[in-house]
Amino acid sequence: MAKSSKRSFQTLRGMRDILPVDWPYYEFIEGASKRISGDYGYSRIGTPILEDAGLFSRSAGQSEMVIKEMYVFDDRGGDSVAIRPELTAPVARAYVEHGFSNMPQPIKLWYFDTGMRYERPQAGRYRQFYQVGFEIFGEASPVADTELIVMGYRLLTDLGLPIRISINSLGDTESRAAYKKALNAYLKPLLKQLPPDDLARFERNSLRILDSKEKVTQTLLEDAPKIIDYLSPASREHFLKVVDYLDDLELPYVIDSRLVRGLDYYTGIVFEYYSDDTEITLPDGKKKEIQTAHLALGGGGRYDNLIEEVGGKATPAVGSGFGVERIIVQLKDRQIEIPSVPAPEVFVGQIGDEARKKAFVLFEDLRSRGVRVSHAFTKEGIKAQLEAANRLGVRFAIILGQKELLDKTILIRDMENGIQETVDYKKAVPEVLKRLQRASKPAKPLTK
Ligand code: AMP
Repeated sequence: MAKSSKRSFQTLRGMRDILPVDWPYYEFIEGASKRISGDYGYSRIGTPILEDAGLFSRSAGQSEMVIKEMYVFDDRGGDSVAIRPELTAPVARAYVEHGFSNMPQPIKLWYFDTGMRYERPQAGRYRQFYQVGFEIFGEASPVADTELIVMGYRLLTDLGLPIRISINSLGDTESRAAYKKALNAYLKPLLKQLPPDDLARFERNSLRILDSKEKVTQTLLEDAPKIIDYLSPASREHFLKVVDYLDDLELPYVIDSRLVRGLDYYTGIVFEYYSDDTEITLPDGKKKEIQTAHLALGGGGRYDNLIEEVGGKATPAVGSGFGVERIIVQLKDRQIEIPSVPAPEVFVGQIGDEARKKAFVLFEDLRSRGVRVSHAFTKEGIKAQLEAANRLGVRFAIILGQKELLDKTILIRDMENGIQETVDYKKAVPEVLKRLQRASKPAKPLTK
């Protein structure tokens, strides 16, 4: 007889389950994003996980993300589809598809969604990740760029992270063409010294060489021309205005002439957020290195051509995106406490099957009145139940035993002092509510 072979399954490489211990972190970040979005007047948008693959090759062009990292396949109907590797192009597509351009501008949107990239997994880099992001469509003013830079800073610092902002401008098409010419001239005699990967990047888009992590390349670039010196008057003025706003708002930023960001669709200002320190001092005085400090927590920039690229009419746009997992890694590294779900106040315990039925009814009654109530109906022994109540830290435990069942009463136990009182079953709910109210009031000060 053939042996039945059982197979066990595991998450795919670079994919993670979000376990119960991690959800509070996601909710903390989503909650903060929601609050910030409300403060600055952004509306939430959701887009599908699958899009026409062309959307990304149109918008992000020759970027590594599209060429090497996108999950792209033919669906059962033969259409070439992609799992979104980023969220901006889908939101831009939605802006065009739903006629947002006919509404009063600007349109300010935010999202909290998942995307996928076939990247080499490491701390803070996964193949499926969540991003929170903000987009402004239909506004060319530098004050829009500034608002986004400020919002991201507020989001991250509200979460408890110390932040440094890097900014740069890639300028308009004219500026970039002038700069590329100068950069190419500078690099031409040095190309032989570039590592093969960087040479390939250079050939795809010479600007991408600027943020190379290779030491050789970084050294070669030390005396390279800076894009800031090649900005057209309009791009230069735009950049200076943003800088001026940031100065007035006293935001900590540095101008980083090598900042180009991964995607090809930027047309002006670009920015990124990094942790402001690389190690922290733990409560016991020990130093701990932040391992992901070199990875950007988020970033963004202006992409005035994007809406046109995805089929709309020319519309200025600027946006930002943040890696939720990267933020979580840092929150954990820094041992930042996050708000937890409020503990239950009341526990309902029972002895025996009949009592369990009544206890369940009581549980439902209290729950529907907004009491944070808990139970351990699957447990039989009252000792185990009271231990559970203790662990939960409830103030009162209600117990329904055989005797209470016969007498039509309940037992209310004050878990702080162990005092138990018998109360009529019918009065159980008002009595619990009254005691909870009394317990939440501060003790009356003694008067002379
Ligand atoms: P990008 O769309 O590349 O500008 O990414 C925006 C932010 O998303 C980055 O700054 C990261 O914080 C985060 N991010 C990008 N790729 C990943 C990834 N593979 N895993 C986790 N976070 C990511």
